[in-house]
Amino acid sequence: MVFGGSRGIGAAIARRLARDGAEVALTYVSAPQHAAETVAAIEADGGVALAIKADSANADEIRQAVAQAVSRFGGFDIAVVNAGIIKVGDFSTFSIEDLDHMLDINVRGVFVAIQAAAEHMESGGRIVTIGSNAAVRSGYPGASVYSMTKGAVAVMVKGIAIDLAPRGITVNNVQPGPTATDMTAGQIDYIRSLVPLQRVAEPDEIAGLVSYLTSAESAYMTGSSLTIDGGSAL
Ligand code: NDP
Repeated sequence: MVFGGSRGIGAAIARRLARDGAEVALTYVSAPQHAAETVAAIEADGGVALAIKADSANADEIRQAVAQAVSRFGGFDIAVVNAGIIKVGDFSTFSIEDLDHMLDINVRGVFVAIQAAAEHMESGGRIVTIGSNAAVRSGYPGASVYSMTKGAVAVMVKGIAIDLAPRGITVNNVQPGPTATDMTAGQIDYIRSLVPLQRVAEPDEIAGLVSYLTSAESAYMTGSSLTIDGGSAL
């Protein structure tokens, strides 16, 4: 299951996991047409996918989406918690409403999604969060809240990994740098100049790392945050 799998990095992950052999449930909140396109792309490749509308800011909707996926597919092997938003603004004028919204989706929603998914997982289960290199590099003005939420995810993953280790379930965090999605649209040329590799990532490159972390090969890795950002955080 990919939480926030309709567009961008999440859609690339959903397609990659389907190519790896998974039946995929993906959630979305605002753009049913993108969710339908991603489902159609997976099905065109011979895969199986289900789109579920569920707001990651709403714990009940997350739990209902998980129940729906379990009832369709009968179990739960992989959860990728990708849904996230960014709101940039100077800390001195950052509104409490925006602060709460960011925390609700980027932190609380991640915790609830992992909690709901893990309930249905058996030994060998894989959980991956999508954090950000902003957790280790808060290198631009107005990013304090976003960086805080992604830092929280990295630390949350360490703790949950310990709690789930006795059940044989791994939990890891992928920290992308600038990636070509709607989130960075219009800023690519500027961002590219800041990246040592002189380009932004393609969503498929992030999906490749998620594929490794959800494979049998990664069984000894848990509680880790892996930064994939063209050298930006160095
Ligand atoms: P996009 O804005 O392109 O896509 C966001 C995805 O998350 C969409 O599928 C969207 O669904 C879903 N989503 C957003 N809010 C919610 C919500 N409340 N409930 C359920 N689903 C939701 O973002 P990216 O692909 O760029 O980013 C994906 C993740 O990667 C985020 O966590 C982001 O912070 C992180 N990241 C991105 C970077 C980048 O440069 N792009 C860099 C580092 C980290 P819908 O289509 O319905 O809106």
